[in-house]
Amino acid sequence: MTDASAASPEPSSSTPPVPAPSPAPLTAPISEVVASRLRDIPDFPVAGVVFKDFTPLLSDGPALRAVVQDIASRYAGSVDVIVGIEARGLILGAAVAYELGIGFVPVRKAGKLPGQTHSAEYDLEYGSAVIEVHADAFTDGKRALIMDDVLATGGTAQAACELVESAGATVEAVEVVLELCFLHGRSKLAGRPVHAMLSVQGP
Ligand code: AMP
Repeated sequence: MTDASAASPEPSSSTPPVPAPSPAPLTAPISEVVASRLRDIPDFPVAGVVFKDFTPLLSDGPALRAVVQDIASRYAGSVDVIVGIEARGLILGAAVAYELGIGFVPVRKAGKLPGQTHSAEYDLEYGSAVIEVHADAFTDGKRALIMDDVLATGGTAQAACELVESAGATVEAVEVVLELCFLHGRSKLAGRPVHAMLSVQGP
């Protein structure tokens, strides 16, 4: 399987989605709650990529709340700020920040943030991309939790960690909903703690 972050712009897939399985009850382990609300979209954004779509999880209010509360309970008292990576990390990250009553900092694609920024360039499978954070987003020593939906090759999360550290904060952990273990993204994160709600071993 190829990494979806490598391709842009994103056309609609003409291949029908693989429907999510029947939703697990909220009393099930959180990994099952998540797994049963993800669906595979083959050949999106390009042929050969299986896109892990978590919009079924987002549209299920009680499940979304369970996921947000699960993440929040892991970091209550140990982080000062949530950092969400554009795009889906912005959605989840803001919800977790609200739940914890702490601040939220967006990491966005180049050219989107209005103030002075720090930038980090990282490699995609074909070419490269740039993400940015406001230079004054953190006071020194703030403990940040970095959030995204999927950890694939790890380039995006690595660049986000470097950005946050260059802006004066420390990375307490990286939290993702889904880790594609076979793409070895953790190896790029240089020992920073990583937690995935669900880990997939093969494509
Ligand atoms: P990477 O830098 O390779 O770890 O890619 C991570 C970013 O690309 C995340 O922001 C994901 O949203 C997105 N991404 C990569 N692969 C996939 C995939 N198979 N399904 C959904 N999103 C993906």
